[in-house]
Amino acid sequence: MGLFGGKPDVKKGDMVYAWTSDADIAKKAECGGAVTSLLKYALEQKIVDAVIAVGKGQDIYDAVPVLVTDPKQLKDTAGSLHCGTLLLAKVAQKFMERSKGMKVAMTVKGCDVMALHELAKRKKIDLNNLLLIGVNCGGTVSPVMARKMIREKFGVDPDTVHKEEIDKGQFIIEYEGGHKGIKIDDLEDGGYGRRSNCRRCLYKVPRQADLACGNWGVIGDKAGKATFVEVCSEKGADLLARAVKDGALKTEKPDPKGLEMRGKVEGAMIKLGEKWRKRDFEALSKDLWGTIQKETSRCIKCYSCIENCPVCFPSSGALKAKDLVVKPGEVPPNPMFHLRRFAHISDSCVNCGQCEELCAMDIPLAKFSHAIRVEADMAFEPKLGKPGYTN
Ligand SMILES: Cc1cc2nc3c(=O)[nH]c(=O)nc-3n(C[C@H](O)[C@H](O)[C@H](O)COP(=O)(O)OP(=O)(O)OC[C@H]3O[C@@H](n4cnc5c(N)ncnc54)[C@H](O)[C@@H]3O)c2cc1C
Repeated sequence: MGLFGGKPDVKKGDMVYAWTSDADIAKKAECGGAVTSLLKYALEQKIVDAVIAVGKGQDIYDAVPVLVTDPKQLKDTAGSLHCGTLLLAKVAQKFMERSKGMKVAMTVKGCDVMALHELAKRKKIDLNNLLLIGVNCGGTVSPVMARKMIREKFGVDPDTVHKEEIDKGQFIIEYEGGHKGIKIDDLEDGGYGRRSNCRRCLYKVPRQADLACGNWGVIGDKAGKATFVEVCSEKGADLLARAVKDGALKTEKPDPKGLEMRGKVEGAMIKLGEKWRKRDFEALSKDLWGTIQKETSRCIKCYSCIENCPVCFPSSGALKAKDLVVKPGEVPPNPMFHLRRFAHISDSCVNCGQCEELCAMDIPLAKFSHAIRVEADMAFEPKLGKPGYTN
């Protein structure tokens, strides 16, 4: 039985092209607007009490978490922000801690889903109260990097850019006076492009969510106008069936060629992720401990890496940052502080990259903890290091 009761006439494993019936959503949506329509439908029907999504802050580089309880406001959250490096999982955890029993629908990338599952294992969140609308994710570009890349590689003032998108392997910008696209491979070979944890990610289609939505596989006259939706759970099947029945969404069978292409692109992205793992980890393995010691010598002990990590909970675990491991007044802390933290999270680091992204001193913390996680998986649970598994 799904979250909503009733027997779904759509089933897990189904795949459809879907598009919104709402003209306002269609105008703002990334492609078919299925994600925003499903969130709106869930709120209108009181299937959930609130929605957590991502909205535009000051500009296109500024993605902010948004809590919506009025369905009319959901259209403002439509569209994809590729500089949105935020992790919604911890936002949801904090919100739900204070609003016990509330049902919440969320837009989630692969890292959000993995983090939510880790939070659920630690009894920090109840997945039964969540409806997860997944979005495929090829990766995000850090806002600082995006501005630098647009200035240096595109030769464009980043403040004149009003739209960015990632399409057919290119990072594309629209700005006052034109538009330009550059292949992501070329950008990344030149030291620009996606965050390093995103490059190493093998989890592109979030099948642990209730629905996984994306643009891969939509071809023909629906290209750019429909969302590809894969049904990943009974809850997702039920929501989709009801939304279609009540006219919030229209659907059609995917083009078989599109299906094949989607599989191929996913496979190619996973291979690319493996290439980056090899490249990053091999370089690191030449002097792992020396590199950790050198890089962490910049640490100012702000504890942002602990605060923002979805799997690091010092007060409930073995590591107690303030009183056990770190000597008061010692900056930088002894490298053992970082090594203990890596040990504490090494069985469950989800490679979300928050520790690194939010590190005030730009220490490549995610690379270290991900390397340790993958190496441990390969040694003791080899299947966990393979695509389809969640790190
Ligand atoms: C960073 C990123 C990378 C993506 N890469 C791919 C890809 O490689 N292949 C693919 O098939 N699809 C990818 N997608 C998904 C695709 O862009 C669309 O989101 C998806 O097809 C749904 O389209 P829609 O019109 O139904 O969504 P809409 O109705 O426009 O809704 C989009 C939803 O995404 C949320 N959102 C926007 N930015 C972010 C963010 N940074 N993090 C989390 N949620 C966000 C919005 O709040 C909204 O709820 C990516 C999405 C993002 C955010």
